[in-house]
Amino acid sequence: MKKNPLSREKIESLSESCPTTGCWLWTGFIHPSGYGSVRDGKKNDLAHRASYRMFKGFIPAGTEINHLCNNKSCVNPIHLEAVSHQENIEWRGITGKTSKGKKHSKAMLKRNLKGENHPNRKLTNTSVLHIRSSGNSSIKLAEELNVSVSLIRQVRRSEIWRHI
Ligand SMILES: [Zn+2]
Repeated sequence: MKKNPLSREKIESLSESCPTTGCWLWTGFIHPSGYGSVRDGKKNDLAHRASYRMFKGFIPAGTEINHLCNNKSCVNPIHLEAVSHQENIEWRGITGKTSKGKKHSKAMLKRNLKGENHPNRKLTNTSVLHIRSSGNSSIKLAEELNVSVSLIRQVRRSEIWRHI
């Protein structure tokens, strides 16, 4: 048995949700790198990775946890996504000033077509029209519709649901 094992409650109590972005901002120790840090039993872990494990489960070997909101101190599991190192680099590329959206979005699309994020299961014609006409941020819409932020971005760029 681990001593003081980490729990969802502990993650929630150590973060504060931002009403604008929906980010759970880490209020515990923050590394100089900008990432939150948390104690899990006897060892320390990055807060966002710990949050992913607590809320979403096992992090597959060789994957990194990407912040869809680009807020390093955010631990909201909705804003976290396990990606390969390569995809994480591409993500940083697209969200930085030198945008190379094409490659990245293909990778995202591929992942989203599998399992729970399958666009046809999560969205309806009405919600697609809503996404495209809304002035809200993609992160906000993702939370509102309970889908991933990358899915919202794909709809907005008409990479999926083109027929509408
Ligand atoms: Zn966030």
